[in-house]
Amino acid sequence: MSQTFEARVIAAYGRHALVRDADGTVREARPQGRRLDIVCGDQVRCQHDAQHDSTRIVEVLPRSGTLYRSNLRGAAEAVVANVTRLVAVVAPKPAPDLFIIDRYLAAAASAGIGALVVLNKADLPDADQLATELEPLRGAGYTVLRCRRDEPASLSQLAAALQDQIGVLVGQSGVGKSSLVTRLLPGVQIATQELDRDLEGRHTTTASRMYDLPDGGALIDSPGVRDFAPAISTLEPGSMGFIEVDSLATGCRFQDCRHMREPGCAVIAAAETGRLDARRYESYRRLRRLYEDLGRAAAPR
Ligand code: GDP
Ligand code: ZN
Repeated sequence: MSQTFEARVIAAYGRHALVRDADGTVREARPQGRRLDIVCGDQVRCQHDAQHDSTRIVEVLPRSGTLYRSNLRGAAEAVVANVTRLVAVVAPKPAPDLFIIDRYLAAAASAGIGALVVLNKADLPDADQLATELEPLRGAGYTVLRCRRDEPASLSQLAAALQDQIGVLVGQSGVGKSSLVTRLLPGVQIATQELDRDLEGRHTTTASRMYDLPDGGALIDSPGVRDFAPAISTLEPGSMGFIEVDSLATGCRFQDCRHMREPGCAVIAAAETGRLDARRYESYRRLRRLYEDLGRAAAPR
């Protein structure tokens, strides 16, 4: 005998997962069949086999707020699903790569996920310099919060921004994401170590995990990355997910303007006068070129 129930994927390790049902019961589960791709945050339908006390994931329910990256073959691959807030973390150390931050923000905007930026390790001497570099993001409309672990109060705005949301922290490894998670989720460390083994007991470092926030909502801790390439096919075609390009584009002469060298382009005009930040525009151009190169490669000859 078996019965089906809905559950949330709270940890995904390739072909293994932990799922939590509406009652809060957590079970180990495996997706049924090779085709079923599951990521942390997915709502799934499961089947429990009481006789063997095993659980299979039989269906992934429709996703919203999904962050997609480009895999090595250039195809879209979900990273986390059903997320409502992306927190892009950047710090004076390791050396910040703002183009990575731009790409995360672009992926979030294209997926309809609200995003904000955390300038972490704000106690370090280069924090003011970094704050200046982040000013264009604030100008574009993103909230930029400063956090430092020696000032616990600096965390309260981030905690407030995540309350009742399903949040995900992203950014280069070493920017202090784990420290933020530990402080946002007091007492979670033990759970982390338990979950760091898959069903065969091997250590794994590639898993994302979802934790309940103390004041409502949940937080997904994703592994640190060296780089992030959004899935090109999921980017908003007019603006590539650059929110200030999107609002400027209403002034372009052509509705399908690429904002690269078109006449009457309001985006290029804004970049020339400095109203659009030069680094952000360069970042936009890089992503647009990648988008078009991959589009050409994919097109039939
Ligand atoms: P993750 O790779 O993004 O998860 O980064 P970690 O949380 O492991 O932190 C990386 C390093 O930054 C560690 O050595 C932490 O002690 C340090 N760190 C974390 N938060 C702060 C902070 O607010 N200020 C300073 N100066 N260092 C921090
Ligand atoms: Zn344009």
